Amino acid sequence: MKISTLSIGDELICGEVVDTNASHIAGKLYDLGARVRRHLTVGDREDAIVLALEELSIDSDAVIVTGGLGPTPDDLTAAAAAQAAGRELELSQEALAHLASFAERLPGGLHPANRRQALVPAGSELIPNPVGTACGFILKLGSARLFFLPGVPSEMERMLEETVLPALAAPGREARLRVVLKLFGVSEAAVAATLEGCLPEGSPVELAYCVKFPEIHLILRSLARHEQSLQAAAAAVRERLAEFVFAEGEQTMDRALAALLKGSGLTLALAESCTGGMIAARITAEPGSSGYFLEGNVTYSNEAKTRMLQVPAELIASRGAVSAEVASAMASGARRAAGSDLALSVTGIAGPDGGTPEKPVGTVFVALADADGCRVNGYHFLGDRAAVRSITCFTALDWLRKHLLTLGAKD
Ligand code: ATP
Ligand code: MG
Repeated sequence: MKISTLSIGDELICGEVVDTNASHIAGKLYDLGARVRRHLTVGDREDAIVLALEELSIDSDAVIVTGGLGPTPDDLTAAAAAQAAGRELELSQEALAHLASFAERLPGGLHPANRRQALVPAGSELIPNPVGTACGFILKLGSARLFFLPGVPSEMERMLEETVLPALAAPGREARLRVVLKLFGVSEAAVAATLEGCLPEGSPVELAYCVKFPEIHLILRSLARHEQSLQAAAAAVRERLAEFVFAEGEQTMDRALAALLKGSGLTLALAESCTGGMIAARITAEPGSSGYFLEGNVTYSNEAKTRMLQVPAELIASRGAVSAEVASAMASGARRAAGSDLALSVTGIAGPDGGTPEKPVGTVFVALADADGCRVNGYHFLGDRAAVRSITCFTALDWLRKHLLTLGAKD
């Protein structure tokens, strides 16, 4: 079955919004064993939408369209669909009833403009929207079936899952499987070199790299019938890259760490300088973090490091605020102040200013204190301010994760 997708919206062609709908639909279709043949994006212009629908319907069995079903005058999809199919727009009583059922949840109730959303091309079949006002609809154009969905990603995803994908299921089509391994602390080139010869010649498993800075995602894909080969390949890759794999599939660094912290029964405090609280934000983003996270200190100035963490002023003066010694003193000080089992600290030069020949931008120290003392690592990260801050954050979290894994292994 030939399937194409069409995204509609000025915000997409002006670069204001990333088209996540297209990638979400492509991923879901791929898992089903189908592939998107072609994808188009057009702005909120009726003639452009009509043309795109006509063009895609010529060489597709199905077209999935998102966007432009809202109540505002720039939402022109239904009118364009009607024009392309040579139909009139008509008021759908079913869509109107759906809108009415949402009235009490809308701020200020149902606005007369919302009625626009009940106008659909004559002869189309409604697609229920369990989470929003705009119903979708299905319309035939030539031999193609066109599926119209709202642009709001959460609504689009539900309607795709509940109505569109089941309608596109084809007998005999084989689903695809994928395993996603998430790596940190290794370059793409090093991963490729490590994996040389890892998959047997003629393996039915595809291997793809996807860099999501600072993570690298390794994606292994196969047809469902090759599940054994896929699992064997994943096991081989896991073995070769074990020290860098921090999570798999839907798991994230933050969630993996949260589970380990919870399981360890240990408490944590933080002392952050160049990350300004980013580590604390990630730790507390996970539910249940109050069970192990005691406090985070954002000690940006030298004076704050001394006052809040008892880092000796002379140490800062002699070694510099960005130094292994100060990072250690920050972690020990944070641990003492909070009375926690563990403390992590980071201090670094995120740039663009503040670098020196001895300590260029990207110089970062991370320290980890526990009952056995304090260890510190130094790094020279590349990249702009945002990149340095983000990789510093990730490095600290990953160190803590590895530390907890070693503690777990000792038990
Ligand atoms: P609504 O009923 O909310 O008006 P709609 O079908 O008219 O739905 P749009 O107005 O096109 O949808 O978009 C609604 C929201 O969804 C906007 O915030 C828009 O940025 C976002 N959006 C639209 N299309 C996409 C897309 N392809 N990818 C990601 N976000 C999108
Ligand atoms: Mg729009």
